[in-house]
Amino acid sequence: MKKKILITDRFAHDSYLYLQQHSHFEVVRSDSPQHLPLEHLVSANALIIRSRTKINEELLQKARQLQLIVTCTSGFDHIDLDATQKWGVTVMHTPTANIESAAQLTWGLVLNCVNNIPQASKMVKAGDWNRDLITGMELTGRTYGIVGLGRIGSRVAELAQAFGMNVVAYDPYQEDDVFERLHIPRLSYEEVLKTADVLSFHVPKTLETEHMLNRSQFEYIHRGIVLINTSRGSVINENDLCEALEKGWLRSVGLDVFEKEPLHRNSNLLKYPNVVLTPHIGANTEDAFFKASQIAANKLMAFFVDGSTSDTLPPRAPWYGAAPFKGE
Ligand code: NAD
Repeated sequence: MKKKILITDRFAHDSYLYLQQHSHFEVVRSDSPQHLPLEHLVSANALIIRSRTKINEELLQKARQLQLIVTCTSGFDHIDLDATQKWGVTVMHTPTANIESAAQLTWGLVLNCVNNIPQASKMVKAGDWNRDLITGMELTGRTYGIVGLGRIGSRVAELAQAFGMNVVAYDPYQEDDVFERLHIPRLSYEEVLKTADVLSFHVPKTLETEHMLNRSQFEYIHRGIVLINTSRGSVINENDLCEALEKGWLRSVGLDVFEKEPLHRNSNLLKYPNVVLTPHIGANTEDAFFKASQIAANKLMAFFVDGSTSDTLPPRAPWYGAAPFKGE
């Protein structure tokens, strides 16, 4: 009997092209990642999703034939993992597929921030050729602070070293080997915040990382720092960030992720010229979509051929055991 696969996101299209060629799968697509067609959901044996599809108890109650969910993402806070465990549904993710894309966007934000590229472009387009107003900062010899030296954090660190920067990092759960291999000193969180000229977050969404940057840290953070977040919006308290911006404590800020997405049109973050914003596009490259879709399709095939699994969720990472997040 054919296994029915429901693909919920058009950015997982390559999974569809790949699985469709295999006669033991019936592959269907949802027009919307949020509203899955009930007639297919009730009979689906597997879902291939991205983060726009939220997996919760209510959905799982309807999906009575569901054995497997593969999310084409590295983050997984769109999935209630207590509920998938309760319903006996295997979950896998594709954490390697978007390392390059997310690291590249992080660096895109860094360079936009330090060279004031958005402001300069806006001026030129407005017919204003005033070069005196735009002064950047060289990165060579300065300090880059990483919070979360995992897959993406490590790649961002390598790129910082290519710019001749001294990299320091805080990650209480990462092995010493990783710090040593990258020649990065392991510092406390406070030390990183006090020494970094450029700082970026690459941590998962957990109870521990929620608002890990708030008013208390802004009190002592290195003045004139460039702050970047491409991990999860919950990491930074946005009200406290706006307060720090008002006080002129930050040189510039680059954000791809927000406490509430989409970012509200009245958000105070919109009013600062030295804040660069992107709409959660860290994994949005054609290459990352392709890699994630291919990896997801292969994981799904292996699961139905011989029951093998990889990158299963919940992760066995120590940080997950310490402070799990229970899904949106
Ligand atoms: P990863 O699991 O490889 O790395 C996360 C690291 O954070 C780990 O080394 C872990 O030890 C560390 N960590 C956990 N809790 C910590 C804490 N309290 N303090 C400091 N470090 C802590 O994950 P990854 O693939 O590198 O992804 C990092 C983040 O980027 C995730 O939140 C992911 O969802 C997000 N992400 C965003 C986009 C985007 O579109 N903007 C794309 C991909 C990934």
